Amino acid sequence: MSTTQSPHIALFPSAGMGHLMPLLRLAAMLAKRNCIVTVITAHPTVSTAESDHIASFLRHNPEINHLKLHLTPMFVDMFLVAKTVPIAKDLHLPIYVVSTSSVEFVSLMAYFPVIQLKSTEFNNASTEIKIPGLPPMAVSSLPPALLDPSHLFTSIIIMNSQALSEAEGILMNTFEWFQASTLGTLNKERAVASLPPILPVGPLEPYHIPPDGDHHYRSWLENQPSESVVYISFGSRTAMSWDQVRELEKGLEKAGWRFCWNLKTSKVDKDDHEGEKDILSDFFVERTKNKGVIIRGWADQQEILAHPAIGGFVSHCGWNSVTEAAWQGVPVLAWPQHGDQRLNAKVVEDAGFGLWERDWDWGVDGIVKGEEIERKIVELMTDEKLREGAKKVREEARKAVESGGSSDRVIRDVINSLSLPF
Ligand code: UDP
Ligand code: UDP
Repeated sequence: MSTTQSPHIALFPSAGMGHLMPLLRLAAMLAKRNCIVTVITAHPTVSTAESDHIASFLRHNPEINHLKLHLTPMFVDMFLVAKTVPIAKDLHLPIYVVSTSSVEFVSLMAYFPVIQLKSTEFNNASTEIKIPGLPPMAVSSLPPALLDPSHLFTSIIIMNSQALSEAEGILMNTFEWFQASTLGTLNKERAVASLPPILPVGPLEPYHIPPDGDHHYRSWLENQPSESVVYISFGSRTAMSWDQVRELEKGLEKAGWRFCWNLKTSKVDKDDHEGEKDILSDFFVERTKNKGVIIRGWADQQEILAHPAIGGFVSHCGWNSVTEAAWQGVPVLAWPQHGDQRLNAKVVEDAGFGLWERDWDWGVDGIVKGEEIERKIVELMTDEKLREGAKKVREEARKAVESGGSSDRVIRDVINSLSLPF
């Protein structure tokens, strides 16, 4: 005998009694026929007649659930802005964009429709593009997908770039000191007219989630000397090719430093299934067994970067990784793989806490040889100037978010502007 479960149905009336009443009647009708019913109502309502009516309806129909959709200001991801701006405008709600990348990338995104019009200049990889008020950007540093007008990434950028100007401001995971000159040009000189105010509120402080169980890398790190370990990670969605894994093995072994390698070999956002022994060469595993630790799957990168044993970070320069390294004051060897990462690598270099070898190809285009990797890792782990630079960045990052710091003032101003009078 088969059994069925009554459906759970949500009803969402628009404003006005002429919409509210029939939807509530339908709600009651469904509830009488054993459906689970939830009525969603937008608040504040346009009239008190509506709010009074909703309240008495719900009092007399206690089996019907209620969800209040509070009409509140919106902070929305930069890749969803085109879809959400029209909704926010209709509802007269303030909307802020949240950038997940660097100021350079957001400026590029805002200015991209103009650049695309001058496509001859843009198509020549050896040239630079000029966004008003910013240092020239090498075309070879732009996200490669942008050079292909039919690429999905390009259409997402174009669609959302046009809506950026509708926002009240763009909240950025950066801080005044870190990108002072770029921020000054954009905000004071309004170099890119289509950009609303850029609001540096970072680094976004990591939240603490208590460790779940004892991962092997934790106990391993505990036993390593201060600043003796190089951490290698290419973020959450970059797979390393098997050939590149072989070269990195060589580089790590020859460099001789201790290492903590967050090894990902599957494509975007997929989980890895092979164990490390399926990927690494037996030779490497044998020769380095006391020298390093391999992580497969998700690890708490913030916790790793915060560990006193970590002395350097080989990073693909995803913007989150960049700001986390800044927050912890860990020197970076920038090894951009795709997307905005070369633009981000330049920020790391300019801020004085990272090395960037421009000659290394994008991850998909070529293999960086073991000897090259060895040379750069040794430089990363021994360059005192870099270490000093990283400590300075950490100090300035923490100043920015403390009470009265530059980022704290910016976020407080935003909150104040959205606060309602009593
Ligand atoms: N209504 C009511 N009392 C009033 C005014 C309106 O109960 O004083 C109800 C009316 O019975 C109907 C709804 O509100 O169910 C109004 O919908 P209608 O489509 O008649 O007009 P609209 O307000 O959408 O122009
Ligand atoms: N991350 C982590 N553990 C992992 C891999 C990544 O905690 O094993 C975090 C990392 O700290 C960062 C984010 O995931 O906050 C990755 O973002 P990022 O911008 O650095 O690179 P993406 O993954 O977007 O390429």
